[in-house]
Amino acid sequence: MTENYDAILIGGGPSGSCAGAILAEYGHKVLILEREKFPRYHIGESLIPFTFGPLERIGMIPKMRSSGFVKKYSVTFVQRDGRRSQPFYFFNRYDRATVAQTWQVLRSEFDQLLLDNAREKGAEVREETTVNRLLMEGDRVVGVEATDKSGRTYEVRAPITLDCSGKEAFAANRRGWRKSDPYLNKVAVWTYYRGSKRGEGIDEGDTTVAYVPDKGWFWHIPQHNNMVSVGVVAEGKYLTRDGLREPKDIFHREVNQNEWIREHLSVGEPVGKYFVMSEYSRHSRHCASPGLLLVGDAFAFLDPVFSSGVMLALKSGQLAGEAVHTALATGDVSAEQFAPYGRMLREGVENMRKLVYAFYEPAFSFREVIERHPEAAGLITDCLSGDVNKDFTQLWDWIRELVPLPDDLPYGEPLGEAKAECDAVSA
Ligand SMILES: Cc1cc2nc3c(=O)[nH]c(=O)nc-3n(C[C@H](O)[C@H](O)[C@H](O)COP(=O)(O)OP(=O)(O)OC[C@H]3O[C@@H](n4cnc5c(N)ncnc54)[C@H](O)[C@@H]3O)c2cc1C
Repeated sequence: MTENYDAILIGGGPSGSCAGAILAEYGHKVLILEREKFPRYHIGESLIPFTFGPLERIGMIPKMRSSGFVKKYSVTFVQRDGRRSQPFYFFNRYDRATVAQTWQVLRSEFDQLLLDNAREKGAEVREETTVNRLLMEGDRVVGVEATDKSGRTYEVRAPITLDCSGKEAFAANRRGWRKSDPYLNKVAVWTYYRGSKRGEGIDEGDTTVAYVPDKGWFWHIPQHNNMVSVGVVAEGKYLTRDGLREPKDIFHREVNQNEWIREHLSVGEPVGKYFVMSEYSRHSRHCASPGLLLVGDAFAFLDPVFSSGVMLALKSGQLAGEAVHTALATGDVSAEQFAPYGRMLREGVENMRKLVYAFYEPAFSFREVIERHPEAAGLITDCLSGDVNKDFTQLWDWIRELVPLPDDLPYGEPLGEAKAECDAVSA
């Protein structure tokens, strides 16, 4: 017998848990289908200040405050020779009691808290359940087919399905909407250290971005339980120069390229495996089609450099929750209904994307932009902190004095019925 819901969500990561919590709180009948059994490992551990708003919207702030997650007040940049910038403290610009303090999380624990929160709000969650395909009636998505851990395959139906499947990009991949970023094609190699050196007091949770040659960089993210997440990101051809292939060898060669990283790791010990990821930067051509909405990484992911992924995933989860509630309440789940959602997300992604591109340009430095235009400091801070939906035109003009910036990508519009016909004619 087919089961019926108001909304089905594919994936119970931050985007799915956030959208699911909001929809369930509004009283909709919500089903989250999650392939893994939580707690499960995930990369993406450093939050940025403007994650606060979505977390507050779904009632997560008290849970975050009573968690053991290390508090993050700042970001610091370190040159190759170990010279360190002053920590940039968020409280120099934002409210100390709210946005100015964020967290370094262990994703297994953080995602569990988020998923449990969605459950508490009334969402039904089925873990160890994999979505295999979208059910279609004409060009409308009317539900999904899923398989649970016992091997039982079944169908579930709803007027709207939210694809929150993260890097799987379930719908974008199957529909041929997935587009790689024209320039962001880096490789990340990372592991975990126990007992290595970290700052003290409010500097304990400082994120350090430490440079290696060729615009490569390390992240150094102190976590609780005396663990540090540490990884290097660069072009594949740089990391594998001279034929090096083993992630462990690549990682340790780069450790010696930055004096601060070398010194901080020298007193700790690596624990566990070495992870590698590539080809993670991508965008979906469309944000929606009839009965389908893309959320979080399933819609777009840029680059780890400014730790914007979880903020964008939660923000899109929040926006999607509100937009789907309106759609269900008005009985209009057409793709066009989600055009404002798609535009808002693309605006945020494009703003962040410009700053990511600038970062990877050899001729760019934040310091130089700010020396030329001191007013740029506040705008740069806002964008890096995740306040991404504002007018940065002046900032882009100032940065273009140093390096070129990319045009906006023409993606994110919903694939409505009218658009589908146009595409069919032009194909
Ligand atoms: C190297 C690297 C470093 C990063 N560092 C940071 C950082 O420091 N800070 C930050 O904010 N972000 C970081 N990110 C980004 C961050 O990991 C993501 O942006 C974030 O996890 C996106 O959340 P999401 O909910 O969209 O997807 P996910 O968190 O990936 O959740 C998707 C869920 O969907 C489930 N799923 C997938 N397919 C199916 C299916 N067919 N059926 C059922 N379930 C399914 C998966 O099991 C998963 O639980 C980093 C990314 C990379 C690659």
